[in-house]
Amino acid sequence: MLWRKPMNSARGWSVTATKSRRRRRKRPLGLLELYDRLFAAYGEQHWWPGETPFEVMVGAILTQNTAWTNVEKAITALREADALNPEALRTRPIDELAALIRPSGYFNAKARKLRAFGDYLAGYDDDIERLFASKPLDELREELLALHGVGPETADSMLLYAGNLPSFVIDAYTMRVLQRLGVIDADSKPSYDAVRAMFHESLPADVQVFNEYHALFVAHGKDVCKSRKPLCSDCVLVENCPAAEGFLREAPTR
Ligand code: SF4
Repeated sequence: MLWRKPMNSARGWSVTATKSRRRRRKRPLGLLELYDRLFAAYGEQHWWPGETPFEVMVGAILTQNTAWTNVEKAITALREADALNPEALRTRPIDELAALIRPSGYFNAKARKLRAFGDYLAGYDDDIERLFASKPLDELREELLALHGVGPETADSMLLYAGNLPSFVIDAYTMRVLQRLGVIDADSKPSYDAVRAMFHESLPADVQVFNEYHALFVAHGKDVCKSRKPLCSDCVLVENCPAAEGFLREAPTR
């Protein structure tokens, strides 16, 4: 257990006011307890893949709408072509960049995003440390969000995993698990920023915890709380999950 803080599953904004009686019978998990349960089940995840902060930021762009294995292929190709540096992102022909990152999918669009990112870094003399030390987190986040091809998840991944700054990353796995657990209301479709704010209000601003928590959501969402046919009977959260009953009813008896 990392912290001893009261659970706060009853915050006012996007926490579920669940509709069914069945859901009310399940004790909702607070975010701290959820972290502890996931950590106890999966342990340290040792994220983020990437040898340097620059590489992590490139990876955050390339991973949009694709699996990390494809990103690794694209990064390897960039490295082997001596193009994994800000200068190359600015100066190599877009077609060449696109060909190198082809394994990551959407390669023409992503090549233009990498070009914009390379141009942006020129404003910091390609000094990533200087970039992350240049201004408060919220201002830096706004600056990143203004870049071509950088949305909230990409910006927060950059801040957290490259900048070591406490900016919680919300991804599809996180949303799915939280919705199924009834922590957020699937019907009201809370925004990315609303869900991120919930974590920021509920957790200490601890980079290591934010890092680990996001990785744990990915592990749980990939291996157990799958999009289709989640493995509820093997899930450490089943006692607190309002969605489990329906999935277990659908699952064939073993
Ligand atoms: S019990 Fe099932 S639906 Fe609920 S979190 Fe676990 S795997 Fe997901």
